[in-house]
Amino acid sequence: MADKNKNSGFTIKLKHLLIVVFIFISAVPLFFSLQYLNQYAQNQYREQVGEKLEALSLIAKQRILTSVARLEDSAALIASRTQMRAYLAQWGQQQSPELLEQINKIIFDASAAVPHLHEISLYNNEGAPLTSTIEASLEEKLLSPPVKGTKVQAEPFENSLLLTAVTPLILDRKKVGYLKVAFFADFLLELIEERAGLGTTGEWLIVTRSAEGHALFVTPLKYDKNAAFTRIIDKAQIDIPTTQALLGNEILMDQAPDYMGQPVMAYTRYLPKQDWGLVVKMHESEIAQLTVEFKRVLLLLETVIIALAVIIGVIVSFYIAMPIERLRSFTQKVSSGDYSHNVEPSGWLEAKELTHSFNTMTKSLRDLNENLLKKVEERTQELDKANQRLLELANKDELTGVNNRRYFEERLGQEIKRAKRNGSSLALVMLDLDYFKVVNDTWGHLAGDQVLKTVSQKLQYCLRDTDIIARIGGEEFCLVMPDGSYDGVIAHLERIRIDIAALKIIYESHDISISCSMGLAFCRESDTIQSLMERADDALYLSKNAGRNKLSDENGVVQSVMASNTEAKKTGE
Ligand code: GH3
Ligand code: MG
Ligand code: MG
Repeated sequence: MADKNKNSGFTIKLKHLLIVVFIFISAVPLFFSLQYLNQYAQNQYREQVGEKLEALSLIAKQRILTSVARLEDSAALIASRTQMRAYLAQWGQQQSPELLEQINKIIFDASAAVPHLHEISLYNNEGAPLTSTIEASLEEKLLSPPVKGTKVQAEPFENSLLLTAVTPLILDRKKVGYLKVAFFADFLLELIEERAGLGTTGEWLIVTRSAEGHALFVTPLKYDKNAAFTRIIDKAQIDIPTTQALLGNEILMDQAPDYMGQPVMAYTRYLPKQDWGLVVKMHESEIAQLTVEFKRVLLLLETVIIALAVIIGVIVSFYIAMPIERLRSFTQKVSSGDYSHNVEPSGWLEAKELTHSFNTMTKSLRDLNENLLKKVEERTQELDKANQRLLELANKDELTGVNNRRYFEERLGQEIKRAKRNGSSLALVMLDLDYFKVVNDTWGHLAGDQVLKTVSQKLQYCLRDTDIIARIGGEEFCLVMPDGSYDGVIAHLERIRIDIAALKIIYESHDISISCSMGLAFCRESDTIQSLMERADDALYLSKNAGRNKLSDENGVVQSVMASNTEAKKTGE
């Protein structure tokens, strides 16, 4: 009797020991690895939010840059009106009411065709107002106008926002005054209203630099509707994302205080040309909230797995303990002469099953993670494509689809460098439509637009892949033709000139004809973008003065055999 008690005492102890060992070797590491997984998943989630803020803010930055570039292009097209600049130069000499009337006609004519326009104003060389499409603007002097290029600034206007582009007007290499074009910046207000993917606390912030160097909000804030041009963030508060943005840092900020002192996750962007900061942010509390759901699922999974591990541990311990118990009783029976029982240890099978389930679980978690990474990668590729499209759009003229002036100057600079490096030839052609104003005046502005589009298509069709074409003014185009001989280029341009003059442009059943004048210059060793363009421009004026529909090079009007042949054919001579 005393012996039996001793045996069962041993078995219970073994069972208990096995249970403890099992829980220790399976459930405890399981618990810690799941805890780790939990933490890892949370970090992954935060990382994903950060990546999303990074990608969204990049797209928003590109969108702003593209829209601002479009405004700059519109301002450049207005500034390119030769007649307006000529009148402005005359105004410098003699100020007659007739002259002012002509200038006014031009700016009102220009204002009809520009979308989102608020005003066009002209200033004299000292920045004093001369005339404007808006009377109220005639009171203010121009503040610090740019010496060169276009300066874009944001300004408050009633309940809205204006972007102004100020650019010096040059005629014959002399400054004759300034042009200010102000646009309604609806796109900025639309951008900050768009909060898709930013949860309920997400917000866009756009800041410019105040006179004292602090960050000044340009647009209304979600939690302060009157913030535009009134609320500032002191430049000393460098832990605030808007300050970092204006410092030119494009970074992800965790747990950073926002303008209300709330901890936020934010991505900062900087637009150097405009000196603006752009910030996209989400409150940390909302990001934490979003991880709670995920955490709950993991916690449930953890509990079930650990409970299962404990149950299996107990069962396995019993199975392992049982044969030993049997063996002991068997040994005892043998020693007492009884051989009727078989011993069959089977507990390890369950241990194997447990390991198997754990492996399956690890594998599905790994698959889940890989799937997430794949999705992020796909999304990044989509964003890259979208950015590429935006960039392409920013280089194109909206009306004609050919390159715009900005892109053209960039490429011309590269081509000049390349030609000098290789000692190869580079031809630059200025092309201006003749009496284009008459087309507008006779058939209307839309007919003029149709002419511009058709001529652009023709030019694109006639040029080689390596040539570059751009619209650099209202009805002015530039062609860059690398690696051509003098005779080859002349023959090619004459063909283009004749083809354009032969075009029959149909607009509302009217047949419109147009011709063009061209000025050609070849790049020299000492040339800059400006000097080369000036020589081509001078040649263009030779063509205009010689009666138009002509091609001139740096030395004078080109007498074309081809032209006289074709014209002879046309008149039946
Ligand atoms: P010239 O032979 O001396 O070049 O005469 P022109 O009439 O072509 O030149 P001018 O510079 O006097 O007039 C250019 C006109 O181009 C004035 C303006 O109304 C028109 N224009 C400028 N941009 C556009 C545009 O985008 N669309 C249309 N339809 N017309 C435009
Ligand atoms: Mg013209
Ligand atoms: Mg012109």
